[in-house]
Amino acid sequence: MPVVDRVASAVVTGVPPLVLLAGMILGWRSHLLVWQDLVILAVMYCGVGIGVTVGFHRLHTHRSFRVHPLVRAWFAALGSAAAEGPVIDWVATHRKHHQFSDVEGDPHSPHTGHDHGFKGAFKGLVHAHIGWVFSEMEVADERLYAKDLLADPLMRFVDRTFVLWVLVGLAIPFGLGVLLSGTIAGGLTALLWGGAARIFLLHHSTFSINSLCHFFGKQEYDTSDESRNLAWLAIPTWGEAWHNTHHAFPTSFRHGIGRHQIDLSAGVIRLMEMCGIAHDVVRISPARIERKAVPQTR
Ligand SMILES: [Zn+2]
Ligand SMILES: [Zn+2]
Repeated sequence: MPVVDRVASAVVTGVPPLVLLAGMILGWRSHLLVWQDLVILAVMYCGVGIGVTVGFHRLHTHRSFRVHPLVRAWFAALGSAAAEGPVIDWVATHRKHHQFSDVEGDPHSPHTGHDHGFKGAFKGLVHAHIGWVFSEMEVADERLYAKDLLADPLMRFVDRTFVLWVLVGLAIPFGLGVLLSGTIAGGLTALLWGGAARIFLLHHSTFSINSLCHFFGKQEYDTSDESRNLAWLAIPTWGEAWHNTHHAFPTSFRHGIGRHQIDLSAGVIRLMEMCGIAHDVVRISPARIERKAVPQTR
């Protein structure tokens, strides 16, 4: 991995928590956190989070549904604001993960290349969570894994202008903060929560799928990997924590297919389908689901 990429990764993963920490220490006793900031954080977390889960993941990577090319580009821009890398790179890495899930070649498995025992498990989890971001070995060849996106001029444009979308994702909370408070200071605290805190929280929400959801939780469906369904993580990850189900049926628009398995991303796709925005939504037949189901002891 070129040094410039490694520095960029360090900046986008390291700066938000540092900014957040500094802001909290310096301003906690003053009116640093006001209700507007929490609302802006929630709106930005949900909006950009959907860009990653519905856009980058279910639409661009797995083609779980179809939309107009402009809507595709909109989702690519929205997901880019999460600062998790340009869309084509994200898609290529994730498709490689599915191809080599938990065996040699998986960009972020907690189970490969580490010793057994507690120390090895811990090292594996750290690698799967964040270490892989800095590893030279884990770069996926876009020409091999994302040929379709490379052939699309609109997607290439959004991919090339990645930094612009990250900056737009920072300008929006700042602008909202200024509007709601009428002061620049209000804009800056909104930037702290809707920008830095939101990037930090979304990063670790996505990273947790790669680490925790390949280690802890239930295997409800037969897959050849270590993917797990981790119920408590389903709401903050917009349904992505039903990760074992996802590995069993990667193209399904719904990851939480069981009873009471809340999957907010699937709800968004369903809503888009009802409004005529999403078409050809991929649903898995009950017979296929039944064939892969693993009997649960409790
Ligand atoms: Zn996985
Ligand atoms: Zn996937």
